[in-house]
Amino acid sequence: MKNDPQAVADALDALQVAGRRRVRRVVQGHATPGTSAQPLLDGRPLLNFCSNDYLDLAREPGVARAMADCSMAWGSGSGAAHLVTGHGEEHHALEEELAAFTGREAALLFSTGYMANVGVISALAARGEIILQDKLNHASLLDGARQSDATLQRYRHADAEDAARLAAAAGGRLSLIATDGVFSMDGDIAPLGALARIAREHQAWLLVDDAHGLGVMGATGRGCLELAGLGEDEVPLLVGTLGKAFGSFGAFVAGRRDVIELVMQRARSYIFTTALPPAVAAASRAALAAMRQQDWRRSRVLEAVQRFRSAATARGITLMPSTTPIQPVPVPGAARCAAASDALRARGYWVAAIRSPTVPAGTERLRVTLTAAHRDEDIDGLADALAAVLRELTEQSTPERHE
Ligand code: PMP
Repeated sequence: MKNDPQAVADALDALQVAGRRRVRRVVQGHATPGTSAQPLLDGRPLLNFCSNDYLDLAREPGVARAMADCSMAWGSGSGAAHLVTGHGEEHHALEEELAAFTGREAALLFSTGYMANVGVISALAARGEIILQDKLNHASLLDGARQSDATLQRYRHADAEDAARLAAAAGGRLSLIATDGVFSMDGDIAPLGALARIAREHQAWLLVDDAHGLGVMGATGRGCLELAGLGEDEVPLLVGTLGKAFGSFGAFVAGRRDVIELVMQRARSYIFTTALPPAVAAASRAALAAMRQQDWRRSRVLEAVQRFRSAATARGITLMPSTTPIQPVPVPGAARCAAASDALRARGYWVAAIRSPTVPAGTERLRVTLTAAHRDEDIDGLADALAAVLRELTEQSTPERHE
């Protein structure tokens, strides 16, 4: 694109016309201190059903205090990349604690989950090799494959047979399979056991991005791999993010010590960027401790999921098959989906409309997420509001009869 104001205006118009122009809404604080469920928007509190703060740790006072104390002691920024002078005691301790939590030899902190996925994949896959990925993987996994110069092939969503077929056809060139653990827009879980068998058979890496599973799923919150009974041998690369259930910020990859060392030497998104502020690492450490000590948070969010599913089903609302805190409600059509989200906001509920290109056109949905902060009455209220809004949309789109 040229530096031409008309070209910029046309590009923005095209997004507008396609119903794909995104807007940011400015949150003015929280109605109730200590809760993440009630952001203030345009001066009024909303019930937030689109945050990834599943365990309600983002505003937990102990976590916030750990951050504040550390920033008073260490300052606000790390001042340099990890491989220069930016890697401090807090970062190091967090890596060791995350390795222990995930049952792996070592972990490496990245500044974001996006950067972790891009860095790990491009560190381990090279030109001439083949990477297999689920069609619905997060954009950062796909972008990592694109940056690696390897050939990206995508198998049908959650379809291990399709993955096995592509793996067999790769003629020995398959080097890496990558999948979300919990799919971020659908809420379902990848067929991890079957993917692990395919990876092993082809001596390929398996990378599981458990951004939405870690802290929430599995008997003790160790995520989708715990749920599937898989360890480091079966899944050599586990990526976790710290901005979701941990209520903090950042991400990590965990695995064998030699593998983590190689990623550290090669991942450009690790090498060429400033280390997280130490206070952010301190917040993640406090969150990890809270997660381990306060299992009620996990029980509560899982109860909230059940409550929402029963309340929605009882009101005739169609849901997708998800057992996780991501509970999408299909509302096909970009304009209809956006209208449903607006109507819910008018009723006091904040639920994101997910449209193309995040999901394929025709599969638009309201992405409801549950957290430990939601009370039963909040959830029942949302189900009532959803039922009313979906009914209104159907009535509006039913053509009037003129007889
Ligand atoms: N992986 C998945 C599955 C995600 O949903 C996200 C964030 N939406 C990321 C990675 C990126 O993590 P971060 O926000 O820390 O960059």
